[in-house]
Amino acid sequence: MTETDAISLRVTPYGEADLIVTFLAAEGGKVRGIARAARRSRKRFGAGLDPGNRGLLSHHTQGRSELVTVDGFAGARPPDLGPDPVSGFTVIHVALEACDVLSVEGENAARRFRILVEMLGLVGAAAEPHAALAWFLATVLADAGFAPRFDACVRCGSALGAQARFDASRVAMVCARCSSDASVATIEPSLASRVAALRPDSSDPEAARTAVELLGTALEHLAGRRLRALEFLRAARSA
Ligand SMILES: [Zn+2]
Repeated sequence: MTETDAISLRVTPYGEADLIVTFLAAEGGKVRGIARAARRSRKRFGAGLDPGNRGLLSHHTQGRSELVTVDGFAGARPPDLGPDPVSGFTVIHVALEACDVLSVEGENAARRFRILVEMLGLVGAAAEPHAALAWFLATVLADAGFAPRFDACVRCGSALGAQARFDASRVAMVCARCSSDASVATIEPSLASRVAALRPDSSDPEAARTAVELLGTALEHLAGRRLRALEFLRAARSA
């Protein structure tokens, strides 16, 4: 049996009573497991297996199944959503889905786990939720080898003039001379430099939201699909 600090990323009902749960674990990275009878009895799984909950995961492998068996999630507690619970909940779910799409089962993800823990702490400590999420996305993308670049053109290195665009496949800005994709909206150089200067404790909501949208698009490009939590965040913004 393995025991590790872990955060639940995703929960899917399975059969009559079971749940399939995806975790990001401090040791072992992404783990997918079956929690038997979890929908009937909550006793074994503490406060529950809901996405965002953190606890001490115990699991064991069974035969040749690719799913582990979840034995317990001791001391599980939900994340602190901060002073604006709706925004806190929404940005945390984008972070959880980002961890899910960036992580491969069996791969070490100790750094990603620490970055996620830090992001949850920022939201709980009342950082502007979108600034916390922008910091998180930039940091996990850099950790995965896709360091974002907003301060200059990624192709020619020159300063971003008017009509610069974000290239989602490179997670970076390109200048008007180097960019040919007219389907992508242009970004004012002053806004791009505010995005480049963004910190998790920044109070620049416009730059934070722009960063989340651009980095979210880059993540969707990497994943090859739309992210549900990001779609939800976009809908919440325009509502
Ligand atoms: Zn250029």
